[in-house]
This record gives sequence, C-alpha cells and structure tokens, in this order.
Amino acid sequence: MAPHATGTPPPSSHPYTHAYPITVLASSRAVVSGRLTSATIVINTQTGKIISIFHSVLSKSDFPPGTPFVDHSPKILLPGLVDAHVHLNEPGRTEWEGFWTGTRAAAFGGVTTVVDMPLNAIPPTTTVAGLKEKVAAAQGQCWVDVGFYGGIIPGNTHELKLLVQEGVRGFKGFLIDSGVEEFPAVSSIDISKALTELSDSPTTLMFHAEMIPPITDSVGDDVQKSLPPLHPSGPLTAYKTFLDSRPASFETYAIAEILSLAHLAPNLPLHIVHLSAIEAIPLLREARARGVKITAETCFHYLSLAAETVKDGDTRHKCCPPIRTQSNQDGLWDEMTRDDDSVIKTVVSDHSPCTPDLKMLPPRLAGETDPANVDGEGGDFFAAWGGISSVGLGLSILWTEACRRGNPSVEDVVKWCCRNTAKQVGLEHRKGDLAVGFDGDVAVFDDEREFVVEHSTMLFRNKCSPYENKTLKGAVVETWLRGKRVFTREHGFAEKAGPPGQLLLEPRTATAKAHKKEVEFALAA
Ligand SMILES: [Zn+2]
Repeated sequence: MAPHATGTPPPSSHPYTHAYPITVLASSRAVVSGRLTSATIVINTQTGKIISIFHSVLSKSDFPPGTPFVDHSPKILLPGLVDAHVHLNEPGRTEWEGFWTGTRAAAFGGVTTVVDMPLNAIPPTTTVAGLKEKVAAAQGQCWVDVGFYGGIIPGNTHELKLLVQEGVRGFKGFLIDSGVEEFPAVSSIDISKALTELSDSPTTLMFHAEMIPPITDSVGDDVQKSLPPLHPSGPLTAYKTFLDSRPASFETYAIAEILSLAHLAPNLPLHIVHLSAIEAIPLLREARARGVKITAETCFHYLSLAAETVKDGDTRHKCCPPIRTQSNQDGLWDEMTRDDDSVIKTVVSDHSPCTPDLKMLPPRLAGETDPANVDGEGGDFFAAWGGISSVGLGLSILWTEACRRGNPSVEDVVKWCCRNTAKQVGLEHRKGDLAVGFDGDVAVFDDEREFVVEHSTMLFRNKCSPYENKTLKGAVVETWLRGKRVFTREHGFAEKAGPPGQLLLEPRTATAKAHKKEVEFALAA
C-alpha cells in the first residue's frame, strides 16, 4: 500500500532546515492518495521525491526564507498522468513520431510518464537487441519519464524473460494483423508458449484483442451456402463500411480465445488493450469472478467520439478496433463508473500517429483551402493508417466528456489515468499518486479553462487528430517531473535545462519490501 500523507499540523519549528533543497506546491484542491483534499506538498528537489504532505494549505512563512512556494488554489494538484499506451515510433519511423516531440506533447497535458509500445519503431521491441536500439535512440530526448513494453511475435519466446530482466514493463501481442510487417500476429500456439514462459515472471501480458473468426475451407454438409464475407460491403470512404468490417464479435472472439488459454499462467496478470466493444464486458466480468487475473483498458477516443458523427472520408477517426456507436460509448462509461468492480481499470491514449499522407485525408480535411481542389480523392478508410493522435490531450478530453455527462469526478480520472495505469506497468511504488516517497510528478490542472485544439496545442509531430478544432474544457497549466517544473502554459518548456526525462528500466520486481526501502531512502536523503 502507498505510504499515507502525514496529517500533522503545520510545523512550528521549521523541520525543513535540512541541507537539501525543497520546493513546495499547495492548493485547496489536490488528489492525494486518491482523495480530493487541501494539501501542501513538499518535494526534495535533489532526489525528486515527495517528502511531506500536509492536509491543509500552509503559508510561505511556514517554510525557511527563500523556499520556493506557490499556492495554486483553486487549481487542482494531480499526480502526473501515466499514459500506459503510446507509440513513439523511433527509431525507424521517426517521421511519424519521436521521443522529443511525443514526450513534449505528453508534458503539455500533464502526462509525466509514457510507456512506449513495442511496434511501429524499426526494429520492434521483440528482442533485447531491439530494446537496446530503442533505449539508445531515446537517450537525452525525453521531456517526461519513459518506459518500454516488449512484443510477442511468433518465434521470440526465448527473448521474453531476458526482456523482463532488461526492464520492459509488460508485453503486447496481436491476434490480428498489426499493420506493420515486422510485428506479425500470434497464433494460439504462440500465446500458449508466451503464457508458459512468463507464468512466474513479474510482468503483464497484454493483447490487441481483435480476431477474425476462423473460416473453414470445407464444410461437411450444406450448412453454409454463401461465400465468406471477405470484401467490404459499401463505399470505402463511408465510416459505416469500415465499422461493419470490424464487428464487436472480432473482440469477443479474441477475448474468448485468450481466456481459454489463461489457465496456463494463473498468476500472470493479463490485460486487454484498447477495449472498444461493450459486448466483451460480460466475458471479462465472468472470468474475473472465477479468479482469472485479467483487466482491460479503454481509450480517450472510445469515451468521447461516436460513429454517428464521423463524416465520410474523415480518416482521422480510423483506429482499430473502431470507434463504435454512441450507445457503445455510453456503455463504456456505465461500466467504468459502476459502484462495484469494473473490468475497465485504465484509460490511455493509444497515441498512434503517422504522417498525414498515410491518413489519406481528402483535400478538404487536409488543410486544402483552394476551392478548386477541395473535392479531390482520398478518405479511403481501408487504405488509411489506423491510429489516433492524442497524447497530452487525454486529461482534457476526459474532463470535457465527464462534464458533458454532468458528473465529473477528478478522483475517478486519477484512478483511471494515474494510479491504475501505474499499477498496470509495475510503477505503483513511485508513480501515479501524490504520496510520501513517490516521485514529485505533479500536474497543475485548471478545470475551468477552455482551449481549442489547434496546431499550437497539438505538440505531437504530425498535427492530424480528430480533435482538431474541438474546444476542450480543463487545461494543465504546469507540469512537474520529479520536483522540477518542466512546462508551463504561460512560458513553455524549461528549454535551458533541457529534457529531464529518465528511462524507466528498473525491472518489475518491486515488492512491498523494496518499496519501503525506497521511501526510507527518500526521507533520509
Ligand atoms: Zn496501440
């Protein structure tokens, strides 16, 4: 369990006359250990750790003269977000995204930790050698802390334990074509091998859970007269054609397949990435009820966008699994806000960008202003790259939608985007919470401020997102990483100091004991 904030009254004789430097953030509203409270947070800027939290707003005079102290009331102090699903694509497809641009976009939105997916960079993170190339490419470029996942592909079982030792935060495999040839899908046999290999390892096995139900080459009688539906059944620029081509049954079929193999590794946490179809929820609930260690995440886009409003040709909305109907979106919210145990534990961006040409946008959506050219070709949902860009916009997207639904809870947001995502990737002893002993990662959130998503507020490399021109409510005005202010809405980035992000390669062996040691170290330093 996380160490609790101290609730003691203001220090009467300054306890902070230590040799080490501190900085202090306070507010009448802060989410501390998951609860909204007033708080004064003291961070040791040498270790970057939170060393004290008082459940009231102290004054500057309670601290030694010269101590940096800001009372941010009524803005909300949140733990920095942990976005546990981001594609940064470097090396190899750096023109799609890179560590520098992707982590600046993250910091802009209060995200202080991102975990990079194992595919779309070249090489993919399916071997230790691939991980080392990625780590080398990331060095000195990261504005927030960055962790890495490993990948499961056919034939790399022997690399998996080595990757755990090298500090990957989990693994991901696809049950359907991934979109890039260097990251092929796995079969049930490959999944069985991975489950067996990792059954006792401190890691999480995650799946892109879409699967084409097998269609047999031969049927024994006349039960099946028609040909299998292998071709799209409408215009390729119509969103409905695309949505129909990836039905909810792709998700339920894949999840059933994973669950049928789960007994091979009963102690290994399993996780479904980017769950879209609500039809999969009962399957997961039933499995959890009988003790299967499986969780799911959903994404900002499934909670804020709906098929009914996607215009034909607007391939900025293409992702897999697809954005489904408004009633599906409502069902995801119902699940996440249920009083008892939801199967959806986390909300992530699945930021998966590409260059605008690969989105095949029709000219009218690609910034074409000459009326003679606006009606050109494009907008083919089947040929376009599938992926949505939103890293750093997630908190505002979620807050906007929660406000629209009339019952916004900043504690829920912290649960989904900070505490539970940190836990998913084995960083719950230092990330995702404002608590003593944790990293001093703080997002100062103005929950009333509105802004328009435009080029200046999309810091990722390619300014192509379905949120463009939308007005969002809630903006991060300052982002702190381990006790250092990285970004402010007013002045931008701490350019002189350079990118302060660390690569999170500590192996996932964190136990309560290791955690306690770390807290003691932080307090003693
Ligand atoms: Zn993804």
